[in-house]
Amino acid sequence: MKKLFAIFGNPVSHSKSPLMHNLTFQGLNYDACYTRHLLEKGNTLKETFFTLGLKGINVTIPHKEAAFNACDTLDPFAQKIGVVNTIVEREGSLHGYNTDAPGFLKAISEFNHVKTVLFLGAGGTAQSTSNILRDEGYEVTLLNRSASRLEKFTAKGFTTYTFETFKPKVYDLIINMTSAGLEDDSLPCPKEILDMVIPKAKAAVDVIYGKETPFLKCAKSYNIPTKDGSDMLLYQGIIAFEYFTENTYSFDEIKPHMQKAFLL
Ligand code: NDP
Repeated sequence: MKKLFAIFGNPVSHSKSPLMHNLTFQGLNYDACYTRHLLEKGNTLKETFFTLGLKGINVTIPHKEAAFNACDTLDPFAQKIGVVNTIVEREGSLHGYNTDAPGFLKAISEFNHVKTVLFLGAGGTAQSTSNILRDEGYEVTLLNRSASRLEKFTAKGFTTYTFETFKPKVYDLIINMTSAGLEDDSLPCPKEILDMVIPKAKAAVDVIYGKETPFLKCAKSYNIPTKDGSDMLLYQGIIAFEYFTENTYSFDEIKPHMQKAFLL
């Protein structure tokens, strides 16, 4: 029987995930279909999942914490960070994973000799990625506009600053983890801060994909290597696909099919 998958979010119309997964199902002759569902209330996630007769979902803004709460079983990493973006149904119970963080880790692995990382932003994406980076031996510092969001990072032992308290040092990698530049022309922090840290960095990365944000434009003006969030999106999708198909296909078998979504 054809297996059904979906992405849940609000908004969800912009998501590339249906295209990525459907191209891969087709390319691998896997009998499945992937759609999108506008989920308004996070607390209806589980009920909606079963009503739609789904085998698995990806979850995007703003329901990743609700997804965590809806799961019956959690992968140890998802359990640790409290954020789930991939759910698979097995024998009536929901199993939760986080594929954003390993996807991000793989996306930045091309930058060698990186030890210190400065995150601009402290939202949900920063929460999962900061933990995996620290587990891998990177030293992560967070800089955020509001102090309140930094509290849980400080409690977990990360060095954190607001724009007002920031004391710059040399960071190898500067990452825009905010939504600044997604739908507007704003920078993630005051330009003076970028002018202090970017020239000394080895590279700059934005998690926003498909456009050159003001942050990436600024980093390019200093002639350092840059990349946007496309690889992160691709890699989190490949890892989710491995879970959806219970590891029937390897990362390298999935990649050429899913990558086609970025050429269309
Ligand atoms: P959240 O809403 O959880 O957090 C948003 C963060 O951005 C907060 O730290 C907020 O700071 C900051 N922020 C928002 N606007 C501004 C601004 N104008 N100036 C300075 N800071 C700002 O978002 P997420 O963590 O879920 O998502 C962050 C970004 O990551 C989004 O752009 C999203 O599209 C992208 N993303 C990309 C993925 C990919 O695969 N490439 C996967 C997942 C996310 P404050 O606390 O002050 O409000």
